[in-house]
Amino acid sequence: MKYNWSIIGHEKQLSQIEKDLESGNLAHAYLLSGPNSVGKNTVAKKMAGILQCENDFCHNCNACTQIEKGCHVDTVVFEDDGESIKIETVRKILERLSMTRQAPYKILLVQSLERMGVEAANSFLKMLEEPPERTVFIMTTDNVRLILPTILSRVRVVQFNSVSQGYLKEKLESLYPERDKETLETVSLLSMGKTGKAVHLMEHPESLAEYLKIYHDIQNFFAYRSIVERFSYIEEMAEDPKKIETFINILTHVVRSQMLERKEDSPKQIKALSKINEAAMLLKKNVNVRLVLENLMLQI
Ligand SMILES: [Zn+2]
Repeated sequence: MKYNWSIIGHEKQLSQIEKDLESGNLAHAYLLSGPNSVGKNTVAKKMAGILQCENDFCHNCNACTQIEKGCHVDTVVFEDDGESIKIETVRKILERLSMTRQAPYKILLVQSLERMGVEAANSFLKMLEEPPERTVFIMTTDNVRLILPTILSRVRVVQFNSVSQGYLKEKLESLYPERDKETLETVSLLSMGKTGKAVHLMEHPESLAEYLKIYHDIQNFFAYRSIVERFSYIEEMAEDPKKIETFINILTHVVRSQMLERKEDSPKQIKALSKINEAAMLLKKNVNVRLVLENLMLQI
């Protein structure tokens, strides 16, 4: 690999991107698709850096540091703020595009493109059809099925995947030779094949501790007999939206592992997984969190 992408794995995808960047066969729009926390947004930002830096992605110049901080004038990031992307946002993108360019490119990084509603997507489509010169769209999504086919046909899709636990452990061992075996083992287990998550957990001990706590809670959880105990746990959880996502992810992981251990798909676990999925979908919308989680507790 020519550049340091700061993520684990995805060699095939990254060499395809490097080839595009090197050969001048650059698409004007990329969609990096795949599960969350596999490093898509990191890759998007690095691509912007490689394109804007006039010093072969030196990490030192103004362009490099500004992109890293998210304040580069010709590299606009529309971060995922959990809200849907409205038509006003698309208008703002248009405005930024029409401003005079100072850097080699105008780059638009749009996170979680699936948040774009139909109206906004249609107006966005016009931009994708006739992009201003030297404009590159680098977008990410963890749900490609929600992207309009008309948009999909105008972007170059790069598909990222999660990796196996064994592969992840091997990579972590070579990246962090100084860390103890137990931490490496735990992180490769808890990051569920998501390489970006793994790096985050390795570098943020407080996140790892929280993950570990929730993991143990959930394991105990299946041993809890009383629904009262489950509910009181949920009540505490419902106050912290960030924790809820972690909780749902780890819960999914625990139920899947139970299935793998038994080497057969038991109807009970399949039902639990579909209920967890359903709850996860509801939680993304503006719903009563506690109600959804309590319902889930009654059904798994
Ligand atoms: Zn630079």
